[in-house]
Amino acid sequence: MVEMSNRETKTDVILIGAGVMSATLGTILKEIVPEWEISVFEKLANAGEESSNEWNNAGTGHAALCELNYTVEKPDGSIDISKAININEQFQVSMQFWSYLVKNGLINNPHEFIMPLPHMSLVQGEQNVEFLKKRFEALSKNPLFQGMEFSDDPSKLMEWIPLIMNGRTPDEPIAATRIETGTDVNFGALTRMLFEHLESKNVNINYNHSVDDIKRTNDGLWELKVRNLEKGTVERHSAKFVFIGGGGGSLHLLQKSGIPEGKHIGGFPVSGLFMVCNNPEVVDQHLGKVYGKAKVGAPPMSVPHLDTRYIDNQKSLLFGPFAGFTPKFLKNGSNMDLITSIKPDNLVTMLAAGAKNVPLTKYLIEQVMLSKEKRMEELREFIPEAKSEDWDIVVAGQRVQVIKDTEAGGKGTLQFGTEVINAADGSIAALLGASPGASTAVHVMLQVLNKCFPQQMKEWEPKIKEMIPSYGLSLMKNTELLDEIHASTAETLGLTDKEAVYSDKTLVLANA
Ligand SMILES: Cc1cc2nc3c(=O)[nH]c(=O)nc-3n(C[C@H](O)[C@H](O)[C@H](O)COP(=O)(O)OP(=O)(O)OC[C@H]3O[C@@H](n4cnc5c(N)ncnc54)[C@H](O)[C@@H]3O)c2cc1C
Repeated sequence: MVEMSNRETKTDVILIGAGVMSATLGTILKEIVPEWEISVFEKLANAGEESSNEWNNAGTGHAALCELNYTVEKPDGSIDISKAININEQFQVSMQFWSYLVKNGLINNPHEFIMPLPHMSLVQGEQNVEFLKKRFEALSKNPLFQGMEFSDDPSKLMEWIPLIMNGRTPDEPIAATRIETGTDVNFGALTRMLFEHLESKNVNINYNHSVDDIKRTNDGLWELKVRNLEKGTVERHSAKFVFIGGGGGSLHLLQKSGIPEGKHIGGFPVSGLFMVCNNPEVVDQHLGKVYGKAKVGAPPMSVPHLDTRYIDNQKSLLFGPFAGFTPKFLKNGSNMDLITSIKPDNLVTMLAAGAKNVPLTKYLIEQVMLSKEKRMEELREFIPEAKSEDWDIVVAGQRVQVIKDTEAGGKGTLQFGTEVINAADGSIAALLGASPGASTAVHVMLQVLNKCFPQQMKEWEPKIKEMIPSYGLSLMKNTELLDEIHASTAETLGLTDKEAVYSDKTLVLANA
């Protein structure tokens, strides 16, 4: 029997989960309302162990510099770049916030979490080359994407991506775009840094504490039933405002809160695998993130890419992610997660989604079963000379895509973005979905504040503008401010002098 504990607390804010989202929201709140008391409950032993961990995501600073699925070809053949613009603007918000934190000494050593890295898109075949050229023409005219280059010249491509070009016969058209201002972000390191900072600001962080239930009390607070996993006791903690930042665990918690806004929503879990190169000689032959095109029938989050990464103080090379299907909602979750997320209110939505997504589910199940050699074949589309013994498989994080009823898609439509779901009175909010994810955490957490604290936003605006000078403005339309922000964030985050950055990183590595 579980023992009840007499530990009870009341605070202003409770953040559930110690991932990058709670870390970001907590840090923003500590700047704008430092007097508010914040508690965090995380079921694992440390911060940033689920999707935010560096081994569980691809570490791309998503700014739409290379992801082909952010720009779609319209029926008339023109390219719609509106999504790319949105995502780029949102990434600039993150860059400004991180710069503010570094400039003010709230976190240090930016190279520990962000590194400059060229972002490239790579396509093969005449039609795809044509698409990439049109995409390049549309983007490179836009101030947000200045500096992008296009080439279909094999000798130029050899300069940019020798590992990918070696061993290729030039019998098929091939082309790439490249932009120097891309980044590799270690979201795990960033999350840990932010939690260290929050701890220094007296935020009460409780690891090994699993939130089992959420209920509204008569006095209008939210009361959480929390299991202390070390002591095996159950505690009660209440707050005026609760943020459900449980990643894949958020849907279950949202359902427990019982708010009407959380009804008729389901989750579709997608697992991930990367291949990691264990041969330093191969790792050294590549520098950049190279995104390809998703295969027909494959979901957008399984776009293959070959990435230089900076993880555990080492330069690494990762390929993937291979998407797959498992019923877990968290990497450390349970095989019952999918079944237990089906409730009377979302049953029809889930059944409709099941019927609509038979081909996708089949694709994902087949992907899970792929042998290493089959995965090597996919890798060889990027690196023709890749050797099996140079590559190992690592299991990445789980993503839970939102399923809901929409006007455009009908019942049970699968969504690929992130969604903030909040109670009408703003007392509780949850973040669902996983894309573009951690890169846009600051924008999304500002959205949480906008939705939950609309009356306070005016009063908070000057501080938000101090942290994020472009807040409320379109950078695309304010090119002077854009140039200023590009220059100052690159300077503060140490992204300007690439040679110095790489040798500094080598230095850090040598000393590590
Ligand atoms: C394969 C893959 C590749 C990705 N690539 C990128 C990328 O390149 N760039 C990018 O920007 N984003 C990427 N993402 C998305 C990104 O990782 C996520 O959007 C982001 O990490 C989500 O952060 P979070 O804080 O919401 O969740 P998480 O980091 O998962 O944190 C949630 C936390 O809540 C805890 N928790 C859950 N339930 C409970 C409970 N009941 N009680 C207490 N604690 C609980 C969990 O243990 C966990 O620590 C990728 C994701 C995956 C899976």
